[in-house]
Amino acid sequence: MSNISFINWDLPEHILDAIVAKGWDQPTEIQKDAIPSARLGRDIIGQARTGSGKTAAFGIPILEKTQPTGNPQSIVLCPTRELATQVCNELEWIQGDKGLIILPVYGGTDLEKQAKKLDSGVDVIVGTPGRVIDMTKRKHLNLESISLLCLDEADRMLDMGFWPDISWIFSNMPNRNQTLLFSATFPQEIIDSTDEFLNNPVTVMSDDLEVEVPEIEQKWIKIGRANKLWGVGRILINMDNSDQCLIFCNTKRMVELLEDRLGKHRFSCATLHGDMSQNKREKVMSGFRDGEVKTLIATDVAARGLDVDGVTIVINYDLPDNPEDYVHRIGRTGRMGKKGESWSFVGRDDLRQLERIRTTWNLNIIKSEAPELPSDVNRDPVRPRQDWAEASDPFGMVRISIDAGKNMIGNNLSLSEWIISQSKVKELAIGEINIDEHSTTVDIHSESAQRVLEILERREYNGNKLTAQLSNR
Ligand code: AMP
Repeated sequence: MSNISFINWDLPEHILDAIVAKGWDQPTEIQKDAIPSARLGRDIIGQARTGSGKTAAFGIPILEKTQPTGNPQSIVLCPTRELATQVCNELEWIQGDKGLIILPVYGGTDLEKQAKKLDSGVDVIVGTPGRVIDMTKRKHLNLESISLLCLDEADRMLDMGFWPDISWIFSNMPNRNQTLLFSATFPQEIIDSTDEFLNNPVTVMSDDLEVEVPEIEQKWIKIGRANKLWGVGRILINMDNSDQCLIFCNTKRMVELLEDRLGKHRFSCATLHGDMSQNKREKVMSGFRDGEVKTLIATDVAARGLDVDGVTIVINYDLPDNPEDYVHRIGRTGRMGKKGESWSFVGRDDLRQLERIRTTWNLNIIKSEAPELPSDVNRDPVRPRQDWAEASDPFGMVRISIDAGKNMIGNNLSLSEWIISQSKVKELAIGEINIDEHSTTVDIHSESAQRVLEILERREYNGNKLTAQLSNR
């Protein structure tokens, strides 16, 4: 925080009153750097993570410049409905009693109702690109009267997925004369592309990206698919009353599966993903915000911009596919200086991705073990399993060593036939077999390994009791 106070800025009274009533005293770093230039009408590239106060950084200048005329003059575009709702709520109170009509315009809500509201006059639009385009094409929204455009989570808005929509909106907004971009990350290719539509922007950005990453403890655990649930169990069982946990999966399907599996182990949690109805999503979000829901499982898109201050733990159940999402995810915790930690589950195949994330942002992600069980708990909520896939070679095979006492009688072929006949695994599942005086090893496909191991231990081979275990190659 800076030494400047909001009072020094000579802000319009209605905004200043609202801010003071809210108890805000000083602008945050991003507000201090961005607001004065934005008030002067400059274009801005603002790098700020969620939680840094970026909504007010663009919100205050927008609300100051927009007048209650009933014609849309400013628009904020966001990648998700959740973020649009949050931005809308924040702008609503910051404007105090100025009387601007601020309307959220996003999909999943009643078209006709929204059209009616637009027809009856609005001053500020906060929306997602798809619905904004829809409403413009239906002639309920006239983008020509808009002079100020802001893109929140600009990196996402300007990437391949949204770009055609954003580009359409730009071209239908001929009177745009100020553009504000805010995002936690600005990859170089995005910065390069802004030449096309920004006019001599002021860049409010730190040279050292580390500064923008929340100062939380970032840990990673080597853990494969088979034991991720065990890992979550260990983390959740260590939560105390004041903790809230956000778990990220890469797919909606995984979000649902995980909820189901955790439910079976008596962990109650809620989910948030794009296939849920708007109503349901809002309910879940408010439950989480109120602290009623302690654990939330979500996809990236659904959780973007989620403004919850109580999150103390973020779990990357799946590592995100792109490094920017990693920063967005861990940005959910440690907000406004609170403490937080993140746990990333990294399987053998994810190690390169972890390295990519680490080097992109120069992060200090510490290799760690799963947390120990609390002292008053003596059993894992989810039992650990032998993770055969993690132990397998590039062909999916694991090596099992068998001890049959001093002499392992028989030959390779008969041992292989015996295993197949006893365990009913496919012939292809058995690989190389080595028998020598001291040891016997069998290569088995990881998917069949557990089964074969159990059979080996239960049956006798040529009259010998066997013990078998995973062999370290
Ligand atoms: P944001 O990054 O916009 O999501 O803001 C994160 C949280 O910080 C929100 O709850 C804001 O209301 C709050 N906030 C923003 N600016 C300030 C400020 N200058 N002083 C105190 N709280 C703030």
